[in-house]
Amino acid sequence: MAKKVDNEKGFLVIEVSAAELSAKAGGYGICDYCNTPAEKGYYIAVLNQWYCPKCYDEFCKRAKYYQKDTGTEKRNYEFYSKLLGV
Ligand SMILES: [Zn+2]
Repeated sequence: MAKKVDNEKGFLVIEVSAAELSAKAGGYGICDYCNTPAEKGYYIAVLNQWYCPKCYDEFCKRAKYYQKDTGTEKRNYEFYSKLLGV
């Protein structure tokens, strides 16, 4: 089951398996950052991308939260949270 992730930097993130994501939203369960297939991953609303656990970890380390991004991020997140039933 997809679930919301409590991200320490305040990003809106949904943990979702490749199977569930492709069933409900399409896509192939391939990380948008490293192009490697993964069973489980993270939908990052501010990027509108799905990352494998390794790339998500690295994103969390390097990313800074910019307040101006929140409008788009909220819209993306609401769309996917409805779609995935989070
Ligand atoms: Zn990756």
